[in-house]
Amino acid sequence: MATVDTSRLFAKAMAHAAAYRQSLTEDPRPPSVSYRDMVERFAEPLPETGMDPGEVIDSLATLATPGLFPIAAPRFFGWVIGASHPVGVAADWLVSAWGQNTGYHSMTPSTSAIEEIAERWLVDVLDLPLGSSIGFTTGATVANGTALAVARTGVLLQAGWDPDADGLFGAPPVEVLIGADAHSSVFSSLQLIGFGYKRVTRIDTDAQGRMLAHALERALQGKTGPKIVIAQAGQINTGAFDPFTDIVAVSKAAGAWVHVDGAFGLWARATPTLHHLTEGIEGADSWVTDGHKWLQVPYDCGFAIVKDRTLHQRAMTQWSSYLPTISQGDRVPSALVPELSRRARGVPVYAVLKTLGREGVAVMVERHCAMARQFAKLLQEESGIKVMNDVNLNQVIVNFGHGNAASRRAATEAVITRVQQDGTCFAAGAEWRGDWVMRLSIISGETTENDIERSAVAIIAAWRAEQGLAP
Ligand SMILES: *Cc1c(COP(=O)(O)O)cnc(C)c1O
Repeated sequence: MATVDTSRLFAKAMAHAAAYRQSLTEDPRPPSVSYRDMVERFAEPLPETGMDPGEVIDSLATLATPGLFPIAAPRFFGWVIGASHPVGVAADWLVSAWGQNTGYHSMTPSTSAIEEIAERWLVDVLDLPLGSSIGFTTGATVANGTALAVARTGVLLQAGWDPDADGLFGAPPVEVLIGADAHSSVFSSLQLIGFGYKRVTRIDTDAQGRMLAHALERALQGKTGPKIVIAQAGQINTGAFDPFTDIVAVSKAAGAWVHVDGAFGLWARATPTLHHLTEGIEGADSWVTDGHKWLQVPYDCGFAIVKDRTLHQRAMTQWSSYLPTISQGDRVPSALVPELSRRARGVPVYAVLKTLGREGVAVMVERHCAMARQFAKLLQEESGIKVMNDVNLNQVIVNFGHGNAASRRAATEAVITRVQQDGTCFAAGAEWRGDWVMRLSIISGETTENDIERSAVAIIAAWRAEQGLAP
């Protein structure tokens, strides 16, 4: 291998990255080229001989740019997606450059120490029980799978069965109770850890998607044996929070483990004004949230948080004579996640938390929620636009039209298409309670009130055009 001029190479990548991020503030239009187009653009036979790495980076950036989706743009309101804070991106570059396989702390003292501090800061900013352990995962799906695997170990050990050693065949059946409006990914986590996505008891919810505590209480009464209750902070469409105080009370009375999926909603707890939405959540046994959503950490980053650190480690630890020995009390990064070799995902978390501080996190989350209310207010002033949720967080769902459900569905789909073509902002759709809705998630780090105004004007114009009215 020829020697590489590292500085020149890294500077090239940095120049491409900076140019891309600057281009995002103006135009969040989705790429006009499709995935298939891009496959063709990149397709070539495996090179027989190599080429200069600088040319590889140049051609990579040039070829890829037309197919990049403006996910990190300030007027991107699709799904629930963070915007990769620049300091997180920069810290992530260091993680790659340092090349630290952060599985064992004794081998990687720097990055493991940074993760230990990031863990403490997260428990602090999220106001969770002191000493809770955090596994840094790829996202909330794997974090839910990790925390639920710990729950599985916890409730089965109590029933006299060791699932880590003996598996699930022959084990006492574990009852899983989950709100009917839980996120789809939790069901895939359940599938992964052997509980099945269908073999659960779905608990009724209210109009906003909140689990009904009395329905949970009734369902628990019919169950014997080990139990896990899965609650939610931040419903994907409405932003609603389950009533945690009541859920924890009835679950604990039944001897159940309580797990909370708070992929984005848990961040309400990091603010003085929204903290009350999460009241009682501290009584749960495990929690999940994402780094790459509201905290703006670059992809990929999620947190599996468990109150009982010893149990967390027990469920995830592996041992072999060739691996470094572990001293009692040390935080071993790989003992909290299902991986051995791993990148130090906690490093960009540390950098973003240090840049924002407790105050910066709270201000950002509160601003996004205020902008969601602003968005809802601007839109519902227009005839034929209806906000379909109580806007208590950062989510706004909107339905368009005057007629029956079918004509409103058609109108809403058409407006979404027009908005995407116009390109002022990006929004996508979903089904909610039998209606098709436009989803607006305000969660991008650099979004301003002016972005909300411009976007509301564009959405209203699209709706007027759909009706054949003047803009
Ligand atoms: C996004 C999300 C998930 C899945 O998170 P990933 O990071 O995409 O794996 C789970 N639950 C909720 C409520 C979410 O919003």
